[in-house]
Amino acid sequence: MRDLVPPPLTRSADPARPHGGSEPDAPLLVIGAGPKAIALAVKAKVLREAGLDAPEVVAVERDRTAAHWREGHGWTNGRQSLGTLPEKDLGFPYDATTWGDPHDPLVAEIVRLTTGYGWAGHLMSRGGYARWVDRGRPQPSHREWADYLDWAAREAGLRVVSGEVHGAEADDDGWTLRYTAPGGRGTVRGRGLLVSGPGPSGTALTADDDRVLDTAGFWRLAVAGLPRRIRHVVVVGSGETAGTVVRELAVAQEREVTVVTPRAALYSRGESPFENRYYSDPTGWTALTESDRREFIRRTDRAVFSLDVQHDLARTARVTWCPGRATGTRPGSPVALVYAYGGRSGEIEADLVVDATGGDPMWFTGLLGPRARTALTAAVGGTLTRAAVEGAIDRSLAVPGLPAPLHLPNLAALAQGPGFPNLSSLGLLTDRVLRAHVPPRSPADLAGACAVTGRTGAPAPYYRGDA
Ligand SMILES: Cc1cc2nc3c(=O)[nH]c(=O)nc-3n(C[C@H](O)[C@H](O)[C@H](O)COP(=O)(O)OP(=O)(O)OC[C@H]3O[C@@H](n4cnc5c(N)ncnc54)[C@H](O)[C@@H]3O)c2cc1C
Repeated sequence: MRDLVPPPLTRSADPARPHGGSEPDAPLLVIGAGPKAIALAVKAKVLREAGLDAPEVVAVERDRTAAHWREGHGWTNGRQSLGTLPEKDLGFPYDATTWGDPHDPLVAEIVRLTTGYGWAGHLMSRGGYARWVDRGRPQPSHREWADYLDWAAREAGLRVVSGEVHGAEADDDGWTLRYTAPGGRGTVRGRGLLVSGPGPSGTALTADDDRVLDTAGFWRLAVAGLPRRIRHVVVVGSGETAGTVVRELAVAQEREVTVVTPRAALYSRGESPFENRYYSDPTGWTALTESDRREFIRRTDRAVFSLDVQHDLARTARVTWCPGRATGTRPGSPVALVYAYGGRSGEIEADLVVDATGGDPMWFTGLLGPRARTALTAAVGGTLTRAAVEGAIDRSLAVPGLPAPLHLPNLAALAQGPGFPNLSSLGLLTDRVLRAHVPPRSPADLAGACAVTGRTGAPAPYYRGDA
């Protein structure tokens, strides 16, 4: 068993650094080396260059950096187009007012330094910027996006520990992650923990890796080559994960598809400038009623296909849909999807069933040790449900009241803004998270830090549950 505590960074001496009883030189840990970990490493480096005492970011990754955006590793064949504009990159929306007044030179310096890690900077670093503009600024493929993420991770010096996390425990000083790697097992300690990634790739059905596949299994098969004998496929799900699977099957692979969705139709996503604004900038979000916030998320994010996918599907007559909730499968050849709708049940036979219901953002609870689990359950009111956690997330995208910070951006949409689980405002996400770990510069700054952590009179932005 290896114990890995990354050596401390060289820091400017600051006797006033108010980290209380925490481990002042411990890094911020992230499960997964995807866009969120990379964006955090970028912003932490920028803040240090701007003179602030930001922690190092250490990601524990079971695969490789940006794995989920490459063929054979994620929910893609690598050739799919990025849904979001690439200008919504690791620094977007380039508003650093979390760190001070808009006229503060520090704020301008943070923005200036962050732009060096943007999508345009990546293209410039390889001499491709002018050609991309001349080509009409096309959407990058997932593979090209992964290349950008890899480049930024290298430039920012993101430290990646190779291993699959299988345990996470909290104590008064921070978090300990236990992981397994081909070379053995190990642990890594940090002052706080951020959980990234969408979780398991299909939760409605039990995959058998043959006739019933989850989303990751489908994309592995699509990359290897979909057998000709598969002519009709049932896809379960109504969100963008399902939409991209349906597009691949019906448009690229020319197969017949039946989509089983719990709603009346395959709804399209609201993508007007008014809807997009809340994704880039959640100003005013918390003042909305909970029912309005839920309606907004339903119209623009959950259980809707993007306009891009809808546009492609309109070109084919191979897609039909059936309202229903999947309840299981009947094995055989053909396999049958069993569903329920309006008090009755039915079956649809197919050559393949794909469970594209998307991830479960509560997946990390299976990793928690007894102390962390008990503390999280108590912090959200006594019952560890998705709704309870979603309702408890504070401005630092963490659940307050734990012994050490646990940041859960994938569950932060309802309480803090719809852009935090996805790529819409990674720069703002990093500001909100790191603000809870960077010592304030002045009494006014301390007030700002307390506003981020949601605490009054907290001695340090790196808060403790008993503060
Ligand atoms: C194919 C695809 C396309 C998407 N396109 C868009 C888009 O265009 N716009 C948008 O806004 N959103 C999009 N999303 C949704 C969402 O934005 C992304 O899922 C999210 O931003 C990914 O960032 P992340 O850092 O949270 O995680 P990911 O990029 O999913 O990275 C998570 C990492 O964690 C690792 N991991 C998982 N479990 C463990 C473990 N136990 N131990 C160690 N490592 C682990 C994985 O290997 C992975 O590398 C897309 C999602 C997918 C899957």
